[in-house]
Amino acid sequence: QDIHAPQLINHVIDRFEMTTKNQDIQFKRKLPDEPITIQGDRDKLMQLLDNIVSNSVKYSPEGGTINVSLKVEKERIVVSVKDEGVGIPKENIEHVFDRFYRVDKARARNLGGTGLGLAIAREIATAHGGNIWVSSDWGKGTTFSFSLPYVQQEAVVEQ
Ligand code: ATP
Ligand code: MG
Repeated sequence: QDIHAPQLINHVIDRFEMTTKNQDIQFKRKLPDEPITIQGDRDKLMQLLDNIVSNSVKYSPEGGTINVSLKVEKERIVVSVKDEGVGIPKENIEHVFDRFYRVDKARARNLGGTGLGLAIAREIATAHGGNIWVSSDWGKGTTFSFSLPYVQQEAVVEQ
């Protein structure tokens, strides 16, 4: 399936903007204007992004900004979702992609969920030949990124 990556991202973020209207959260997008076509399962890739963005919404403070970006690298695209939330402590960070793992059981229980979102996200990313990773500053925010293979089309010059 041919997927237009910026369009897919816009679609997912548009939906979150509608459902978070009564929360004071702002989305900022940094996406290339040119079409970037990747290969994959559209529903699955939407779920991958959805799982990451739903976490950043869940753990964002009132008035928080969520930055979503797409960067084109040599043979892959990298999508990043950066929030200004509570962050993830260093000692927990290597486990967040494990099934049923949740950092603070009490806090997490209040916010709902099963601890499967990121495990599923990782499965989808690797099934597409990509990767997923996280960096976080405890108390300052968290950035989740994933990459997907992308072969840049050579420009065709009409004679
Ligand atoms: P589910 O996604 O199944 O509804 P969940 O959100 O708790 O439940 P995951 O999405 O797998 O599960 O996330 C695992 C844990 O990682 C979360 O419980 C939370 O502790 C931590 N986490 C994930 N994203 C963030 C984030 N953006 N900021 C802070 N902590 C996070
Ligand atoms: Mg989740």
